[in-house]
Amino acid sequence: MSSFSEFNLDPRILSAIARMGYKEPTPIQEQAIPVVMQGGDVMGAAQTGTGKTAGFGLPLISKVLPSANTSMSPARHPVRALVLTPTRELADQVSDNLAKYAADTPLRVGVVYGGVDIRPQSEMLRRGVEILTATPGRLLDHLEQRATNLSQVEIVVLDEADRMLDMGFLPDISRILNHLPSKRQSLMFSATFPRLPNSRNLFCAPTPL
Ligand code: AMP
Repeated sequence: MSSFSEFNLDPRILSAIARMGYKEPTPIQEQAIPVVMQGGDVMGAAQTGTGKTAGFGLPLISKVLPSANTSMSPARHPVRALVLTPTRELADQVSDNLAKYAADTPLRVGVVYGGVDIRPQSEMLRRGVEILTATPGRLLDHLEQRATNLSQVEIVVLDEADRMLDMGFLPDISRILNHLPSKRQSLMFSATFPRLPNSRNLFCAPTPL
Protein backbone atom coordinates (compact mmCIF):
# COMPACT_ATOMS: atom_id res chain seq x y z
CA MET A 1 0.00 0.00 0.00
CA SER A 2 1.47 3.37 -0.95
CA SER A 3 1.10 6.76 0.64
CA PHE A 4 0.82 10.26 -0.83
CA SER A 5 4.14 11.18 0.81
CA GLU A 6 5.96 8.86 -1.64
CA PHE A 7 5.07 10.94 -4.68
CA ASN A 8 7.39 13.87 -4.06
CA LEU A 9 4.42 16.26 -4.03
CA ASP A 10 4.89 19.72 -2.57
CA PRO A 11 4.10 19.94 1.18
CA ARG A 12 1.43 22.56 0.39
CA ILE A 13 -0.40 19.96 -1.69
CA LEU A 14 0.01 17.28 0.98
CA SER A 15 -1.46 19.61 3.61
CA ALA A 16 -4.51 20.28 1.40
CA ILE A 17 -5.30 16.63 0.75
CA ALA A 18 -4.79 15.76 4.43
CA ARG A 19 -7.38 18.41 5.24
CA MET A 20 -9.73 16.80 2.71
CA GLY A 21 -9.35 13.49 4.49
CA TYR A 22 -7.50 11.58 1.73
CA LYS A 23 -5.45 8.95 3.55
CA GLU A 24 -4.11 6.79 0.78
CA PRO A 25 -4.05 7.02 -3.01
CA THR A 26 -6.64 5.22 -5.11
CA PRO A 27 -5.35 2.75 -7.77
CA ILE A 28 -5.48 5.31 -10.57
CA GLN A 29 -3.66 7.85 -8.42
CA GLU A 30 -0.99 5.27 -7.57
CA GLN A 31 -0.37 4.66 -11.24
CA ALA A 32 -0.84 8.09 -12.78
CA ILE A 33 0.82 10.40 -10.25
CA PRO A 34 4.41 9.07 -10.58
CA VAL A 35 4.23 9.10 -14.41
CA VAL A 36 2.91 12.67 -14.53
CA MET A 37 5.46 13.81 -11.93
CA GLN A 38 8.22 12.45 -14.18
CA GLY A 39 6.90 14.45 -17.14
CA GLY A 40 5.32 11.53 -18.99
CA ASP A 41 2.16 11.56 -21.06
CA VAL A 42 -0.69 9.49 -19.71
CA MET A 43 -3.77 7.83 -21.10
CA GLY A 44 -6.01 6.76 -18.25
CA ALA A 45 -9.11 4.61 -18.50
CA ALA A 46 -11.04 5.86 -15.53
CA GLN A 47 -14.56 6.88 -14.74
CA THR A 48 -15.70 9.57 -12.36
CA GLY A 49 -15.56 8.24 -8.83
CA THR A 50 -12.14 6.58 -9.19
CA GLY A 51 -10.22 9.59 -7.94
CA LYS A 52 -8.98 10.54 -11.41
CA THR A 53 -9.23 14.29 -10.72
CA ALA A 54 -6.56 14.05 -8.04
CA GLY A 55 -4.72 11.53 -10.23
CA PHE A 56 -3.98 14.28 -12.73
CA GLY A 57 -4.65 17.31 -10.51
CA LEU A 58 -2.07 16.75 -7.78
CA PRO A 59 0.91 16.27 -10.10
CA LEU A 60 -0.38 19.03 -12.39
CA ILE A 61 -0.36 21.51 -9.51
CA SER A 62 3.05 20.29 -8.45
CA LYS A 63 4.42 20.90 -11.94
CA VAL A 64 3.19 24.48 -12.23
CA LEU A 65 4.03 25.41 -8.63
CA PRO A 66 7.58 26.62 -9.42
CA SER A 67 5.98 29.46 -11.45
CA ALA A 68 3.55 30.48 -8.68
CA ASN A 69 3.83 34.07 -7.51
CA THR A 70 1.85 36.73 -5.67
CA SER A 71 2.35 39.51 -8.22
CA MET A 72 -0.75 41.53 -9.18
CA SER A 73 0.41 41.71 -12.79
CA PRO A 74 -1.73 39.57 -15.15
CA ALA A 75 1.38 38.90 -17.22
CA ARG A 76 2.80 36.97 -14.27
CA HIS A 77 -0.22 34.63 -14.25
CA PRO A 78 -0.46 33.03 -17.70
CA VAL A 79 -2.42 29.81 -18.19
CA ARG A 80 0.08 27.02 -17.48
CA ALA A 81 -2.29 24.07 -17.12
CA LEU A 82 -5.47 23.51 -19.15
CA VAL A 83 -8.16 20.92 -18.42
CA LEU A 84 -10.85 20.39 -21.09
CA THR A 85 -14.12 18.74 -20.07
CA PRO A 86 -17.32 17.94 -22.00
CA THR A 87 -19.86 19.64 -19.70
CA ARG A 88 -20.18 22.63 -17.42
CA GLU A 89 -21.09 20.34 -14.50
CA LEU A 90 -17.88 18.39 -14.85
CA ALA A 91 -15.87 21.58 -15.42
CA ASP A 92 -17.23 23.04 -12.18
CA GLN A 93 -16.60 19.84 -10.26
CA VAL A 94 -13.04 19.46 -11.54
CA SER A 95 -12.19 23.11 -10.97
CA ASP A 96 -13.62 23.03 -7.42
CA ASN A 97 -11.37 20.09 -6.62
CA LEU A 98 -8.32 21.71 -8.22
CA ALA A 99 -8.97 24.87 -6.18
CA LYS A 100 -9.04 22.81 -2.99
CA TYR A 101 -5.83 20.97 -3.87
CA ALA A 102 -4.11 24.29 -4.64
CA ALA A 103 -5.63 26.18 -1.68
CA ASP A 104 -2.31 26.47 0.21
CA THR A 105 -0.45 27.82 -2.84
CA PRO A 106 -0.61 31.23 -4.59
CA LEU A 107 -1.76 29.56 -7.83
CA ARG A 108 -4.93 30.94 -9.37
CA VAL A 109 -7.56 28.41 -10.42
CA GLY A 110 -10.47 29.27 -12.72
CA VAL A 111 -13.18 27.79 -14.92
CA VAL A 112 -15.03 28.86 -18.06
CA TYR A 113 -18.02 27.24 -19.76
CA GLY A 114 -20.94 28.17 -21.97
CA GLY A 115 -24.53 28.95 -21.10
CA VAL A 116 -23.66 31.76 -18.68
CA ASP A 117 -22.61 35.41 -19.05
CA ILE A 118 -19.19 35.54 -20.70
CA ARG A 119 -18.08 38.85 -19.16
CA PRO A 120 -17.14 37.78 -15.62
CA GLN A 121 -15.17 34.93 -17.17
CA SER A 122 -13.34 37.32 -19.50
CA GLU A 123 -12.44 39.56 -16.56
CA MET A 124 -11.12 36.59 -14.62
CA LEU A 125 -9.03 35.50 -17.60
CA ARG A 126 -7.66 39.00 -18.14
CA ARG A 127 -6.56 39.17 -14.48
CA GLY A 128 -4.65 35.93 -15.06
CA VAL A 129 -5.15 32.33 -14.04
CA GLU A 130 -2.58 29.54 -14.02
CA ILE A 131 -4.89 26.53 -13.86
CA LEU A 132 -7.85 26.77 -16.22
CA THR A 133 -10.66 24.26 -16.66
CA ALA A 134 -12.90 24.83 -19.67
CA THR A 135 -15.49 23.41 -22.00
CA PRO A 136 -14.20 23.62 -25.58
CA GLY A 137 -16.73 25.95 -27.23
CA ARG A 138 -16.59 28.69 -24.60
CA LEU A 139 -12.81 28.53 -24.45
CA LEU A 140 -12.69 29.14 -28.22
CA ASP A 141 -14.96 32.18 -27.75
CA HIS A 142 -12.47 33.57 -25.22
CA LEU A 143 -9.53 32.85 -27.51
CA GLU A 144 -11.30 34.65 -30.38
CA GLN A 145 -11.89 37.64 -28.10
CA ARG A 146 -8.25 37.44 -27.00
CA ALA A 147 -9.27 37.32 -23.34
CA THR A 148 -6.57 34.71 -22.83
CA ASN A 149 -3.83 32.95 -24.70
CA LEU A 150 -2.47 29.46 -24.34
CA SER A 151 1.10 30.00 -25.48
CA GLN A 152 2.54 29.16 -22.06
CA VAL A 153 0.56 26.01 -21.34
CA GLU A 154 2.86 23.29 -20.05
CA ILE A 155 0.32 20.56 -19.41
CA VAL A 156 -3.05 19.79 -21.01
CA VAL A 157 -5.67 17.31 -19.79
CA LEU A 158 -8.52 15.93 -21.88
CA ASP A 159 -10.99 14.73 -19.26
CA GLU A 160 -13.76 12.35 -20.32
CA ALA A 161 -12.27 12.42 -23.79
CA ASP A 162 -14.70 9.79 -25.03
CA ARG A 163 -17.68 11.96 -24.14
CA MET A 164 -16.08 15.00 -25.77
CA LEU A 165 -15.69 13.03 -29.00
CA ASP A 166 -19.27 11.70 -28.77
CA MET A 167 -20.49 15.28 -28.35
CA GLY A 168 -18.71 16.34 -31.54
CA PHE A 169 -16.01 18.45 -29.90
CA LEU A 170 -13.15 17.06 -31.98
CA PRO A 171 -12.89 20.09 -34.32
CA ASP A 172 -13.00 22.48 -31.33
CA ILE A 173 -10.37 20.47 -29.47
CA SER A 174 -8.10 20.44 -32.51
CA ARG A 175 -8.39 24.20 -32.83
CA ILE A 176 -7.61 24.64 -29.13
CA LEU A 177 -4.59 22.32 -29.31
CA ASN A 178 -3.26 24.48 -32.16
CA HIS A 179 -2.98 27.35 -29.66
CA LEU A 180 -0.72 25.30 -27.37
CA PRO A 181 3.05 25.01 -27.57
CA SER A 182 4.08 21.77 -29.27
CA LYS A 183 6.34 20.96 -26.33
CA ARG A 184 3.90 20.11 -23.60
CA GLN A 185 2.74 17.26 -21.41
CA SER A 186 -0.54 15.65 -22.53
CA LEU A 187 -2.90 13.60 -20.38
CA MET A 188 -6.07 11.95 -21.54
CA PHE A 189 -8.75 10.29 -19.47
CA SER A 190 -11.62 8.30 -20.85
CA ALA A 191 -14.21 5.99 -19.35
CA THR A 192 -13.70 3.59 -22.22
CA PHE A 193 -10.86 2.65 -24.51
CA PRO A 194 -12.61 0.33 -26.99
CA ARG A 195 -9.37 -0.74 -28.65
CA LEU A 196 -7.68 -1.65 -25.38
CA PRO A 197 -9.65 -4.67 -24.20
CA ASN A 198 -7.10 -5.45 -21.50
CA SER A 199 -7.47 -2.11 -19.77
CA ARG A 200 -9.57 -2.69 -16.71
CA ASN A 201 -9.61 0.61 -14.91
CA LEU A 202 -6.34 2.10 -16.06
CA PHE A 203 -3.98 2.09 -18.94
CA CYS A 204 -1.07 4.28 -18.15
CA ALA A 205 1.63 4.79 -20.73
CA PRO A 206 4.14 7.31 -22.07
CA THR A 207 2.09 7.77 -25.24
CA PRO A 208 1.71 11.10 -27.01
CA LEU A 209 -1.83 12.14 -27.87
P1 AMP B 1 -13.20 11.76 -8.90
O1 AMP B 1 -13.19 10.38 -9.48
O2 AMP B 1 -11.94 12.49 -9.18
O3 AMP B 1 -14.43 12.51 -9.29
O4 AMP B 1 -13.25 11.61 -7.29
C1 AMP B 1 -14.33 10.99 -6.63
C2 AMP B 1 -14.41 11.38 -5.16
O5 AMP B 1 -13.37 10.73 -4.41
C3 AMP B 1 -14.26 12.86 -4.88
O6 AMP B 1 -15.21 13.21 -3.91
C4 AMP B 1 -12.85 12.98 -4.30
O7 AMP B 1 -12.76 14.08 -3.40
C5 AMP B 1 -12.67 11.67 -3.60
N1 AMP B 1 -11.27 11.19 -3.54
C6 AMP B 1 -10.36 11.26 -4.54
N2 AMP B 1 -9.20 10.69 -4.15
C7 AMP B 1 -9.37 10.24 -2.90
C8 AMP B 1 -8.53 9.56 -1.95
N3 AMP B 1 -7.27 9.21 -2.26
N4 AMP B 1 -9.04 9.26 -0.74
C9 AMP B 1 -10.32 9.59 -0.43
N5 AMP B 1 -11.17 10.24 -1.27
C10 AMP B 1 -10.71 10.56 -2.50
